[in-house]
Amino acid sequence: MLFHNRKITVIPGDGIGPEVISAALKVIEATGVGIEADVQQAGASSFAKGVVSGVPRETIESIENTKVVLKGPLETPIGHGNKSANVTLRTLFETFGNLRPVRELPGVTTPFTGRKLDIVIVRENVEDLYTGIEYMQTPGVAQALKIISRTGCEKIVELAFEFAVAAQRKRVHCATKANIMKLTEGMLQHTFEEIAPRYPQIEAKHILIDNCAHQLAMRPEQFDVIVTTNMNGDILSDLTSGLTGGLGFAPSANIGNDAAIFEAVHGSAPDIAGKNMANPTAIILSAAMMLRHVGEGAAAHNIEQAVLVTLESGIRSSDMPGNSPATGTKEFADAIIANLGRVSSTEGPKDFRAVKISPASREVQASKVGSRQVTGVDVFIESRLQPAELAEALNDVIAGTTVNLQMIGNRGNTVYPVESERHVTLVDQYRCRFMKKDRNDNLSNAEILSLLTRVGEEHTWMHVEKLQQFDDVDAFSRTQK
Ligand code: NAP
Repeated sequence: MLFHNRKITVIPGDGIGPEVISAALKVIEATGVGIEADVQQAGASSFAKGVVSGVPRETIESIENTKVVLKGPLETPIGHGNKSANVTLRTLFETFGNLRPVRELPGVTTPFTGRKLDIVIVRENVEDLYTGIEYMQTPGVAQALKIISRTGCEKIVELAFEFAVAAQRKRVHCATKANIMKLTEGMLQHTFEEIAPRYPQIEAKHILIDNCAHQLAMRPEQFDVIVTTNMNGDILSDLTSGLTGGLGFAPSANIGNDAAIFEAVHGSAPDIAGKNMANPTAIILSAAMMLRHVGEGAAAHNIEQAVLVTLESGIRSSDMPGNSPATGTKEFADAIIANLGRVSSTEGPKDFRAVKISPASREVQASKVGSRQVTGVDVFIESRLQPAELAEALNDVIAGTTVNLQMIGNRGNTVYPVESERHVTLVDQYRCRFMKKDRNDNLSNAEILSLLTRVGEEHTWMHVEKLQQFDDVDAFSRTQK
């Protein structure tokens, strides 16, 4: 996707954001590409002014106009209070794909130096647990919803393969936890396996996420491109940046159909903010990704080469190990500017084509099925009864109805019926599974409402989930025996 409009939205952000963004803008200017910056606010300053989302209307309008953002880190209060302004931006503009490349850099010594690491994490960026839908189901039990859609999986898998083609990569791994979360993580695996044959030139492999983390620590050079779900990608990409020198060197691009946001992987690093200590490399490399995205490939190459040449010269930022005096943020950027036009002795410019992204559809996306049936219902109940006592009480409640009590679960374990005593710590949230007695018959809404009314007369229920079959296949997880 090329943007001929050279105006970009710039969000300086919080903490070290303004310092590193200013460094990146100076470097861009020095390449002579003539990008015009529309500087807008988001994050802590906007929260302080009472903007609940952390992203003011003017900022949103600017992005709608420019479609390209260079962004500094935005602070998010941890565990309480405001929502994340980052997540607001990503979801508002549906930047569904987060590209996080890392590579071995000259002079940046790590335990992996010499292994020529060059890995790109392609992280799904808008779904998963990051939809932030959470509930306290009882005063002591919280629930988060992990939302994964077939459409979301298709978009991220296609982006991973299209990126691999554009960047002339050889291999794409899909890292999931499909062995445990068969429906959510499994959907990414299945989508990956369906789409991979369209890219015969790229080797496609599935790997379990825990093994992927292990392999990244043991033999990271086997990886090229890794596509994964949002939370897994968040964690893995910090790991891969650690393999190659740390957050100060890790750039990223948030790619969407309507806008793209370029930012360093690191946060606002409040401990070093305002001290001219931050390493600007990550945001400068993000700026290079942005220039390539807007069709300024030559300027992007120029910046990347100048970064390599600067690091080859032995310069040291505050986050690099060593005893030589650390170079400040401004001076680091000046050194890169001085090296524009030079070619690295470590690695010359890479050939890179534009990444193809399918246009977004405004239609509601729905997968087609031949048949569907509701076979039962899970009712979540708050109770201090022991499982057998609760089962007895519920069996009394449903006597004479069209459903059976099939099982009761607590914290994912089946606690009724059980063949032997269970050594589990019980909490006051039970999942009670009721199945239609006649398995060939649909459990109607009226039957479910009648069941809830009966249960609710004696127990506290707080959540209900229909148990569906699509094309005669159970569309819900089995119980853990
Ligand atoms: P962080 O800001 O990335 O900082 C962690 C540590 O990494 C810093 O204390 C610093 O280590 C080092 N560091 C990070 N960037 C550096 C750079 N450019 N140069 C030199 N050292 C650098 O992570 P955090 O402390 O977990 O998060 C702080 C805030 O940032 C939070 O509010 C968080 O929500 C937000 N955040 C925003 C984004 C984003 O906007 N995309 C991403 C992540 C976090 P030393 O202590 O060794 O100096």
